Amino acid sequence: MNRIIKLIIAAGCIFSLIAFPVACGGDDAAEHKAPVKKAEAKPEVKPEVKHEVKPEVKPEVKPEAAPEAVPETAPEAKHEAKKKAKPGPDKAIEMLKAGNTRFVDGIPNHPHINRARLIQAGKENQGDHAYATVITCSDSRVPVELLFDAGIMDIFVIRVAGNVCDTDEAGSIEYGLAHVNTPVLVVLGHTQCGAVTAVTHAVHGTGHALERNIPPLVDNIEPAVRLAMVKHPDVHGDDIIPYAIEENIWQGIEDLFMASPASRDIVNSGRAKVVGAIYDVGTGIVNWLPEHKTMDILKKVEANPDRAMNAMAGGGHA
Ligand SMILES: [Zn+2]
Repeated sequence: MNRIIKLIIAAGCIFSLIAFPVACGGDDAAEHKAPVKKAEAKPEVKPEVKHEVKPEVKPEVKPEAAPEAVPETAPEAKHEAKKKAKPGPDKAIEMLKAGNTRFVDGIPNHPHINRARLIQAGKENQGDHAYATVITCSDSRVPVELLFDAGIMDIFVIRVAGNVCDTDEAGSIEYGLAHVNTPVLVVLGHTQCGAVTAVTHAVHGTGHALERNIPPLVDNIEPAVRLAMVKHPDVHGDDIIPYAIEENIWQGIEDLFMASPASRDIVNSGRAKVVGAIYDVGTGIVNWLPEHKTMDILKKVEANPDRAMNAMAGGGHA
């Protein structure tokens, strides 16, 4: 008898491992699907469990397994449901803000980092789940998923020293916006950025020799430093660095729009928003910059005849 119960419990565990991953499809996805499946799910789950096992096993299996027990019946409907469940730009920004607040407050949920999520990630399309693209610096003090209290398949991340938007980064962002269909792009600078500091020192003539591949990497930052100096003529020395860090974010957004007609189209159509933010490496706080500035930059770029025009590689239609 004991053996049977053990077998049934094991079967129950395996079942919940199989069933749970789909249940992790994000709060919205779960909400969206729950009402449809509840009714159909029960007949499948219960009979198996009911006969051999008595009260102990049932309560464990029922609440989690029931909503997900019958997804096979309508795979396309399921796919559609998930797609619809993706948040819009404002909701996605809200989710990022809420995640950062939990991180800062020391009460993170650590969502989507369990084995069930891994199994799900191996089976499903990240485009049905990831709700943000984030480009940020490679600095080890800027752990993207942690600081937004997010997990696997939540954020499409691009990291490069100084969070510059050159060709490779613009291409990666196009993947994030056009193929992973994330409703928001965050250009995330951070306090004490070494790349911005190095360029500031170079502009001031106090820098040191740089390895051969660093200058072409950080050359995108130089206009930001110079603009910060023009805007704040009374600020001297390293005190200009925080201003340069913010300008570098706006420069990144401008460089992206200059290089990427697809990103311009996506933002113009409202499918995604682009927002700037600065992460404070000492407090964990993400300070969000005014959203309207992105649209000002977009307008400026659209008036610039030097902007890239062909959205598709190979010069296809725009
Ligand atoms: Zn940095």
